[in-house]
Amino acid sequence: MKHELVKEILYTKEQIDVRTKELAEEISKFYETQEVKDNTVILIGLLKGCVPFMANFLNNFTYECQTEYMVVSSYLGGTKTSGEPKINLDLNLSIKDKTILIVEDIVDSGLTLDYVKKYLYFKGARDVKILTMLDKPEGRKVEMNVEWSGFTIQNQFVIGYGLDYEERLRNLPYVAICDTDKLKDWKW
Ligand code: 5GP
Repeated sequence: MKHELVKEILYTKEQIDVRTKELAEEISKFYETQEVKDNTVILIGLLKGCVPFMANFLNNFTYECQTEYMVVSSYLGGTKTSGEPKINLDLNLSIKDKTILIVEDIVDSGLTLDYVKKYLYFKGARDVKILTMLDKPEGRKVEMNVEWSGFTIQNQFVIGYGLDYEERLRNLPYVAICDTDKLKDWKW
């Protein structure tokens, strides 16, 4: 049964599972070919949206890794970005000379990742790459090279599989287009 705020399911859990496994295998192989400090990649998940995707990815990623998390806010709980990223939870380890893979739920304007990437290089990272479950290239406000993305989608507001509306709906086991017409008078 789909949630009432769902207009259309874009990707089912099964489709996400298959694609995530594929990406994990590809990225594991990629790092085998790279020079990586301590042979360990630091995966930095951007909370809270990354959780289901990152958990799925971790189950399939075979290269040696450590996990860290950051909270960087740019959305103000609704469907529009505020455009000013802010770090609400910072790293707890030194990333000097480290190879970093940022794990994100969705890239839209690119402003969040642009900010985070610059920050990580400023902290001394040797290499920072990006893995995102979803990419919305039409929404870009800054140039942002995304090395790996699960699915490319159009400029629509999506929910589920980690993606929220007002902090809810992250628990939907699929990615869906939100029925934004219903949001105006929506009562939880
Ligand atoms: P950006 O800085 O690239 O514009 O936005 C990145 C963040 O905005 C994502 O991590 C995510 O939290 C939020 N975001 C962007 N597009 C969507 C969307 O379609 N649905 C939801 N729920 N969040 C989005």
